[in-house]
Amino acid sequence: MAIEKMGSQVTKPKLIWLNILVFSLTFIIAIVGVPIYAYFFEFETSTTICFIIATAFCGMSITAGYHRLWSHKTYQTNAAIRFIFAIGGAFAVQNSILHWSSDHRVHHKHVDDNDIDPYSAKKGFWYSHIGWMLREYQAHRYTDYSNVRDLQKDPIVMWQHKNYLLLVLLTNFGFPLLVGLLNGNLLGSLLLVGFMRLVISHHVTFFINSLAHMWGNQPYSNKNTAKDNAIVALLTYGEGYHNFHHAFQYDYRNAIKWWQFDPTKWLIKSLSIMGLAHNLKKASEEKIAKSIITQQLTSTKNKLQALAMPDKEEIIARLHREYDELINKMAVFYQLKKHKLELTKEQLAAEKKQILKQYLQIKQEWFRQRAYWLSLVNQYA
Ligand SMILES: [Zn+2]
Ligand SMILES: [Zn+2]
Repeated sequence: MAIEKMGSQVTKPKLIWLNILVFSLTFIIAIVGVPIYAYFFEFETSTTICFIIATAFCGMSITAGYHRLWSHKTYQTNAAIRFIFAIGGAFAVQNSILHWSSDHRVHHKHVDDNDIDPYSAKKGFWYSHIGWMLREYQAHRYTDYSNVRDLQKDPIVMWQHKNYLLLVLLTNFGFPLLVGLLNGNLLGSLLLVGFMRLVISHHVTFFINSLAHMWGNQPYSNKNTAKDNAIVALLTYGEGYHNFHHAFQYDYRNAIKWWQFDPTKWLIKSLSIMGLAHNLKKASEEKIAKSIITQQLTSTKNKLQALAMPDKEEIIARLHREYDELINKMAVFYQLKKHKLELTKEQLAAEKKQILKQYLQIKQEWFRQRAYWLSLVNQYA
């Protein structure tokens, strides 16, 4: 960290006045200007609709583009979609794709390391939310792009990086002006589509670095501070399932259940159905199941170890034995499942009854064992 000690004095890193001005002015104009305007005039319905579309465009350009496409390469898409995300990212004023992805890859590699993680949640809510952008905490981070060499081969990434400021100005003044000129509600459009949209899309993304590392539970891993939280997911286009994301960062999904809110995943899947995205990566069911069971073992063990129980060592040994047995059952089940999927239609038809019977039996055993395991760990939860 760039806090330098000078004798007994500690000097804080230099303030970044441009960021401070942009964040505070846009925030003040949005929260003061929008209610005043709404009170005296009223926003046109078309302005409100454009505001909603523009907010989602900014948000999803960051989540589906900057985050899941470029930072983590969880899928691939064509130049037209990449161009749209590049424009949306500049509109969201969150720095260039190259810079954002570089920061984000450092975040994943060194998560919670206060000296290296650019927005370490261990330094508190304010710092991880916005404070990290207000001072030059890691001056080298503004020029070192050695961890995104792959992205430097993408001409759209480099074009956006070189023209970032121009694109920020064109989109942030251009879109609101266009809407205002078309519907004759210029000031309303500047306030809502311009300022309010920018402030919302800023803070929504910032919540992923702050709230999603502080509030929620950890079904997959407690090796870092990332949390799963359905409410944060509602605010962040699905990125609130952050514990899963840090455990399986190469997966294009953040929410894995169909009923969990992850519109970014739905967008990527829809693009792939339309033939506009491909190579969507997913963690295997077995890996996900194993990480849940392992995490249950770890957290139960930690809880037991903190208790003053005379027989806790015995219980922990039993938990380990049951864990090993469960993992073995799980492996057998997934092996058979894979085998079943690999069978040709003829093979399956010939031995259908026998294969299905065996499959169902192992599935039942694995489910029963897992339920038993859950009741066991829940006793000490
Ligand atoms: Zn990520
Ligand atoms: Zn994170």
